[in-house]
Amino acid sequence: MRREAATVAGLLDDATARIAAALGLAHRDARLDARVLAAHVLGTDTAWLIAHDTDPLADTHVAAFESLLLRRLDGVPIAYLVGTREFYGRPFRVTPDVLIPRPDTELLVERALACIPSDQAVDVLDLGTGSGCIAITLALERPLARVAAVDRSTAALAIARRNADILNAHIEFLTSDWFAALAGRRFDLIVSNPPYVAAADPHLARGDVRFEPLTALAAGHDGLDDLRRLIRAACDHLKPGGALLLEHGYDQADAVIELLRQHGFEQTCTLRDLGGLNRVSGGRRPGGVGRACGYTCADVLPVINDDS
Ligand code: GLN
Repeated sequence: MRREAATVAGLLDDATARIAAALGLAHRDARLDARVLAAHVLGTDTAWLIAHDTDPLADTHVAAFESLLLRRLDGVPIAYLVGTREFYGRPFRVTPDVLIPRPDTELLVERALACIPSDQAVDVLDLGTGSGCIAITLALERPLARVAAVDRSTAALAIARRNADILNAHIEFLTSDWFAALAGRRFDLIVSNPPYVAAADPHLARGDVRFEPLTALAAGHDGLDDLRRLIRAACDHLKPGGALLLEHGYDQADAVIELLRQHGFEQTCTLRDLGGLNRVSGGRRPGGVGRACGYTCADVLPVINDDS
């Protein structure tokens, strides 16, 4: 054990330098990693660390920190090391069985919330739920909604169920390869953050992504395999006027909009994430009387099931 790492400040300085060197991170990002790991080991928060930087540390804490740090130096994502990641203001348990929730996906959630009235019991489906972050957030933000969530990975569903229990969300979880277990079921809104990275994309071999489940990330030669399957099948599982909202890669909006139109979706639109990248596209199954209120691509999809 390195002697100079016996205080909070010493531990953080040492870890920051080692993380920055091993992972090629900027000093600021490496320091944040070090703080999050230290706060986790000490059972505190990062604000406490700043106020106690001259405090001496127990050997057991230093040893526990060092073993987590070594895994971080190997590239293991912080979220897997501490077992949790915040999404839409709530903590979600994560393991390497599930994708780590990303801020990009909050856009999908925001737009889905804009589609779900707070005073009606609409049926919502989340396909490939992973940690459950989308389904659980929708269920908690719209308590009247009946939210179903599927994943073909039973390991992922176990995490999603646990998150729903911890956060007290009521969700119907089903093991299902996309719509396989949903024959005859129709929803007002279907959302998904499916795998959409091209199998040969070098992005998959870099950084945190290397440790995430490949099945949640990669989707064939152009990344569109699962989006194609979802869009093709979605109309049969939407009520008339029901909406489909999909996250996709920054360069896939045109292809997704084209697929949506080919399969009869109307009012298609694409929305940009905070970084200005095309990130979510959606459309509506025709047929909802009185529901197709006009909107432009700059707007959200209009409220569904609005019979007024
Ligand atoms: N946005 C993620 C990434 O690029 C991919 C998530 C996904 O495939 N659904 O790492």
